Amino acid sequence: MNLKDLTIEKANELLTNGKISSVELTSHYLKEIDSKNKELNAFLSVHAEKALVSAKEADTKIKNDQASYLTGIPLAVKDNILVKDEICTAGSKILENYKASYNATVIERLNRENVVVLGKTNLDEFAIGSSTENSAFGVTKNPHDVSRVAGGTSGGSAAALAADMCLGALGTDTGGSIRQPSGFCGVVGLKPTYGSVSRFGAIASGSSLDQIGPMAKTVKDVALIYETISGHDPLDSTTVPNNSKLLDRVEEINIADLKIGIPKEYFEAKGLNSEVKETVMKAVKWFESQGATIKEISLPNTEYSLAAYYIIQPAECSANLARYDGIRYGMRAEAKDLIDTYFKTKGQFLGAETQRRIMIGTYTLSSGYYDAYYSQAQKVRTLIKKDFMEVFEDVDVIFTPTSPTTAFKIGEKTADPLEMYAADIFTVTANLAGVCGLSLNCGKINNLPVGLQILGPWFAESLLFKVGEFYEQLR
Ligand code: GLN
Repeated sequence: MNLKDLTIEKANELLTNGKISSVELTSHYLKEIDSKNKELNAFLSVHAEKALVSAKEADTKIKNDQASYLTGIPLAVKDNILVKDEICTAGSKILENYKASYNATVIERLNRENVVVLGKTNLDEFAIGSSTENSAFGVTKNPHDVSRVAGGTSGGSAAALAADMCLGALGTDTGGSIRQPSGFCGVVGLKPTYGSVSRFGAIASGSSLDQIGPMAKTVKDVALIYETISGHDPLDSTTVPNNSKLLDRVEEINIADLKIGIPKEYFEAKGLNSEVKETVMKAVKWFESQGATIKEISLPNTEYSLAAYYIIQPAECSANLARYDGIRYGMRAEAKDLIDTYFKTKGQFLGAETQRRIMIGTYTLSSGYYDAYYSQAQKVRTLIKKDFMEVFEDVDVIFTPTSPTTAFKIGEKTADPLEMYAADIFTVTANLAGVCGLSLNCGKINNLPVGLQILGPWFAESLLFKVGEFYEQLR
């Protein structure tokens, strides 16, 4: 069986026509994982037995004509999303033995369709990082070149897809963690609008920024997963009842009516590799040749976005990670008293970057510094959001590179945290503003994929899908 060309859409056809069973399909993927995971380290755990049981159930459903698009489809889940009775590490030693006692809402929704969960994928500890090098369980390698990173923090999910170890995956995106690894591995990933997918059962990193989102090999497949996992959830009060399903759904696009904004601050950014820029501009030109209107736009507060993000994310993350104190959850270090327990537990079981974020966050939230840092960053966040509101009065979507470079070498940026942060320059703005963003492949440089990022207004996911599909099918 050629798994390379297989998509969720095609697998669904094969399943419903009885050409293959979900048990056979699942076995193929389990074999693939078995032979490739040692080298790539994309999966932290594989739930082979359980996967085959759900595949069997899916087959019955398909036979009885009760199947939906995702029934029997093998997916991978990032290891910061809870799957009941399975270990959920969040890439951290501190949760190495933590077994989830309930399902995340997204998992409940996938289970309803009898999706097959193959296992849990690697990530940077607590979704902090840009390369999956911060995982306590080893780096995930890029299937296009194993000396390079798969990106982060959903690097395991992206690598699993690129190496045909699953048909679709879930990731989380706080500042680019779905889009950047999707770009680096040549797959498609969506950061949904804040509030369109429930965060219930996702281990929190930066709560006002985090979103769970789908990753797959095609835009259509990403859209299929999104349809299933999105929507209001009483268990997450930040989910919006009137999400895109109820708003203007875009069924067809007329490309001659499409206005694409090209933000000069992104294309003139200092660290942007010239070949990446050229490759993305080629996609822009292609849209122009198809009749779309291209407009140079300005998002003037972009230059402050990394600074604002790297105040807000650590602040929220320091609050979220306070619960891992060695008492209520996870590992506990040998210590002589309470304070010693706190120090030793965090010191021994959390990685260097996670400790750095907790310290920065605690500092910027402390009295005397709160106004100077945290509150300033929140004001900047509002300005960034306003930039997007104004620009979306004028254009339908915004095109940018997903990242300033292609996948970098393992170890290349680990010594300098600021250099690592700079990898997020084009992705953090969407999280700060809450808008949706899709990353899809637009070419290769020296055999390494380049990501095109398409940003859309709040709850405009269906527009992003149509624009992405148009490009994927016709280019
Ligand atoms: N690289 C960013 C960070 O380290 C974003 C991570 C993410 O999206 N989870 O915070």
